[in-house]
Amino acid sequence: MPRYFKVYYCERIADEVSEHVENFLNDVFQMQFRSVGVRIPRQVAWNSERNAFDAKILLENAKSEGLSFFLWLIEKTLVLDGRYVFGYAEAIKGTIVSTSRMATRTLVAKEVAFHVGKVLGLQQCKDNCLMKETTSFETLIQKPSALCNSCIAKFNRVKIRYI
Ligand SMILES: [Zn+2]
Repeated sequence: MPRYFKVYYCERIADEVSEHVENFLNDVFQMQFRSVGVRIPRQVAWNSERNAFDAKILLENAKSEGLSFFLWLIEKTLVLDGRYVFGYAEAIKGTIVSTSRMATRTLVAKEVAFHVGKVLGLQQCKDNCLMKETTSFETLIQKPSALCNSCIAKFNRVKIRYI
């Protein structure tokens, strides 16, 4: 586990949103999340048919630069294997999440935390939990803003192993 988790933004994300997201993540995971700068998505990752960025290509770009344990929050819509998604994450590597279609900063924070949880070794959870998969907008609105007890226990075990 790194000393802190890196957070990149595309230049259009409002400070109000980014600050809220970082505070929310600090609360949920009890570790540091630090804004490290602006990253502009490369045009080669743009899918003009879907009018969205390809999440896998963007993540590959960041990984090829040696980045790990990072969150990249962008404003444009994302596609994964041709389907629209809120975000995409790979364990240990990083995650990219889109703020498009998110009505409030609370929803952005919840969705971001779900993907960050995956990077930090958590998996989808079936309980009433922040790690519940976002199958629809309704599940995102309804799911709680905290991890369930079993995910907290799991996360604490992962933390001990890495620190
Ligand atoms: Zn859970």
